[in-house]
Amino acid sequence: MTLIDGKHISEQIIGEIAREVDALARAGRRPPHLVAVLVGHDGASEGYVAAKMRACARCGFRSTTLRLEDDVTQQQLLDTVARLNADDTVDGFIVQLPLPPHIDEQLIIEAIDYRKDVDGFHPVNVGRVALGLPGFVAATPQGIITLMERYGIATAGRRCVVVGRSNIVGKPVASLLMRKAQPGNCTVTICHSATPHLEQFTRQADILITAVGQPGLVTAGMVRPGVAVFDVGITRVPSSSTPSGWHLLGDVDFDSVAPLCSFITPIPGGVGPMTIASLMQNTLRAYQNQ
Ligand code: NDP
Repeated sequence: MTLIDGKHISEQIIGEIAREVDALARAGRRPPHLVAVLVGHDGASEGYVAAKMRACARCGFRSTTLRLEDDVTQQQLLDTVARLNADDTVDGFIVQLPLPPHIDEQLIIEAIDYRKDVDGFHPVNVGRVALGLPGFVAATPQGIITLMERYGIATAGRRCVVVGRSNIVGKPVASLLMRKAQPGNCTVTICHSATPHLEQFTRQADILITAVGQPGLVTAGMVRPGVAVFDVGITRVPSSSTPSGWHLLGDVDFDSVAPLCSFITPIPGGVGPMTIASLMQNTLRAYQNQ
């Protein structure tokens, strides 16, 4: 069994981007610029944005965090998006989700210029990726594809089962793996909360991707020997053995499933770190496209 080291691959990618940005600087070019719009003071969102800004610094990017209060109106946020769309010094930007309940997230996503949508959530990018055309791929699915490439995991002709059908993980990763491309050419099945007898599907998987958020959903009896597992789920559970009082669990019961796998991503340090690396790749691409 090979433990997939997402942290290591993410570091590799950030190093590769930093070398490209260094070459741009030597050629007298300005660095790529990523802006993150952060609404309110949600602890998890603050942490994610801070990590993205730290990664920008390591890549040599310029980065800006635009902070707005919880009571910002939808129109004020739309005005901010319009300003960023028009700002030639900004290559890409993200609006950190979730937004407060009085703001329509989809409306905000659709207001972003798709050429600066480095999160890959705009319908134009989602549609282009589904059609097999160039476009920004959402960070988590792109991260999974990169891990498959860097670990040389064969996908063509293999059966892939995706558990979860969200717009940001399940649907796009299924779409990427069914492409006539490499990685791709999988026979893909998507399961969700209305799928009866989940185990009948997961047992068929050569590649199993779980994006649910239910610790221990997948147990040893639900996988076939030799499966490659990508566990996207992250759930914080109370713990008496960590200083923080909690630890993170994936959707897969790691201890019982790992010995059966050809490859498996751990939690933490598997798919998670790849998300930020993919965002940095998208930002560099947005800059190059300009
Ligand atoms: P969503 O809540 O949007 O989607 C969860 C999916 O799981 C839904 O499609 C749901 O089905 C399905 N589901 C729920 N219960 C079951 C079940 N018992 N059997 C089969 N399917 C089920 O989640 P996200 O895709 O946004 O995130 C999923 C997990 O991944 C979360 O833990 C999240 O924290 C984590 N995550 C991690 C990232 C990373 O960087 N590593 C990035 C993004 C997410 P239905 O559609 O029918 O409701």
